[in-house]
Amino acid sequence: MGKVYLIGAGPGDSELLTVKAARLLERATIVLHDSLVSREVLALIPASAEIVDVGKRAGQKLLTQDEINALLISYSRSHEIVIRLKGGDPTLFGRAGEEIEALRDAQVPFEIVPGITAALGAAAAAGISLTDRRAASQLVITTYSRGEDAANSDPFAATPSLNWAAVSRTTTLVLYMPGADYAEVSRRLLAAGQPEDLPCVIVSNATRPNQQIRHTTVAGLSAESKLPAPALLIVGRVATIRIDAVIRVGAQHTAPHVRSIEGARPKPQ
Ligand code: SAH
Repeated sequence: MGKVYLIGAGPGDSELLTVKAARLLERATIVLHDSLVSREVLALIPASAEIVDVGKRAGQKLLTQDEINALLISYSRSHEIVIRLKGGDPTLFGRAGEEIEALRDAQVPFEIVPGITAALGAAAAAGISLTDRRAASQLVITTYSRGEDAANSDPFAATPSLNWAAVSRTTTLVLYMPGADYAEVSRRLLAAGQPEDLPCVIVSNATRPNQQIRHTTVAGLSAESKLPAPALLIVGRVATIRIDAVIRVGAQHTAPHVRSIEGARPKPQ
């Protein structure tokens, strides 16, 4: 029986692959990949290898998760190395959990090879530090989806929405999958008590040749035109090129939960 490698392909730039990922790709005979994996990384797969695109295309799923799980198991019977390649890191919004469980149940050996997640690629691209000690003390990697309200009302929902009570003035939020409607994202951030002038940066195609970076604010977000996918939003006082200019943003914050938990704010240097 072969072994399945759940490999992080990183945000796009093939030089951001781990040495281990690159070495395994060189030896690949079968690769199942998502649509997020960049062409540059796919180009490293030997021409002799079989490549299966199991990702989504134009909103349509090519294969269901159960079908992907079944494929991984069946390929492990015929190949020594089965590569499951996912954009960024496989364990962050990558459905790795379901695949790991299926492989465990089928007693197929597997290994996870971490990758650079989009948040880190985007922060590097924008030249900001997600936990800059002058302005941030925690990082929340989350996702934005329209179905959030429904999930919010059910504490046992499989994907509960962000717990806003845990978000303080010193939280950096990274919103994956922000969708096309930035105005709605802006409205929801404001409704959750985020200050209008809180910095926000949109990073599209981080670390790829077509990378785009746009600095705005939580209020300004509503007027921004959509950048091409994949894109994410970094929201917080670190999402600026001049932290000293925004250090006091939110000082007059009215949201009670924010006031009550922000207590020990790092002092500006
Ligand atoms: N496992 C992936 C995330 C999958 S969810 C990871 O760890 O990065 C898909 C979302 O990731 C996209 O909607 C987008 O928000 C984000 N994303 C992935 N690659 C990106 C890139 N190169 N630039 C900006 N955002 C990216």
